[in-house]
Amino acid sequence: VAKQNGSSQYRFYDAASDRTSQEEIWLEQELEYAVDRDQLRLLYQPKFDIRTSRIIGYEALLRWDHPVHGEISPLRFIPLAEKSGMIVPIEQWVLRTACAQAKRWELAGRSSLPIAVNISQVHLMKPDIYESILQTLQETEFDPHLLELEITESAMMHNEDHVIEILDKLKEAGISVSMDDFGTGYSSLSYLHSLPINCLKIDRSFIRKITTDKDSKAIAEMIISMAKQLGLKIIAEGVETKEQVALLQELQCYNVQGFYYSRPLTPEQVDRAHVS
Ligand code: C2E
Ligand code: MG
Ligand code: MG
Ligand code: MG
Repeated sequence: VAKQNGSSQYRFYDAASDRTSQEEIWLEQELEYAVDRDQLRLLYQPKFDIRTSRIIGYEALLRWDHPVHGEISPLRFIPLAEKSGMIVPIEQWVLRTACAQAKRWELAGRSSLPIAVNISQVHLMKPDIYESILQTLQETEFDPHLLELEITESAMMHNEDHVIEILDKLKEAGISVSMDDFGTGYSSLSYLHSLPINCLKIDRSFIRKITTDKDSKAIAEMIISMAKQLGLKIIAEGVETKEQVALLQELQCYNVQGFYYSRPLTPEQVDRAHVS
């Protein structure tokens, strides 16, 4: 509500934005209980090799089923969780759940595939993140070499010395790191070179226009060749059409993720997809 200070000042009362912020505050509070109330779950989106059409790994993606609001998008609640700090316990839950799930798949006699989880900038900056991840790996008896962390390019741009130190330790432990949404941040080539990462994920915004816009194609092409030069793996996210697949194959980017191959799946759908 606009403050009234009794003077002749005018204040515009913006009902719409006020309602939004009230709702956000309310959601932020609700989020505190989401883990304990069992409202969070993970979907698993497969990553594919277009040469063989085989699954090469999975990315765990968070969903919040709110009893009143229904499913709330991570694009909406992750920023709130970052603001309140709740993102840390939430992502610890994500990590534990994803590792435990992947371990179950492994024990069920499947080929062991890497599993990726997204790590926010707020979590990355926690002084004990390394110890906490290692503890989760021990508790779930999950192989660190099968764990991949996805960190957005922009999250890696803060406190660069600290980021390099953490990533070095993770690498030492056998954990891989991918730079998510690559191309949307502004990392310098020299910083990119000094980061101990394994893979670049080309942002969906370029892939979406890759067959229709020559600038997007040029950017994707440049990212792919740069990754090759730097010895990094590369994966294209948000692949939706067979034309995009054909073009990526032509550009020698063979790893992809997107609705063309598969949407994010529930664990049960993953189970069923593998029954032969
Ligand atoms: P992201 O990590 O870049 O994940 C890819 C997003 O693109 C997912 O959206 C996925 O469902 C969507 N996607 C995949 N293929 C396609 C496609 O072909 N077309 C389109 N239109 N979309 C596609 P989702 O699951 O809604 O997640 C959105 C973002 O929320 C993620 O982007 C990630 O940044 C964030 N997120 C999800 N779970 C977590 C988490 O546990 N921690 C953090 N920090 N962020 C998370
Ligand atoms: Mg991701
Ligand atoms: Mg991404
Ligand atoms: Mg993205």
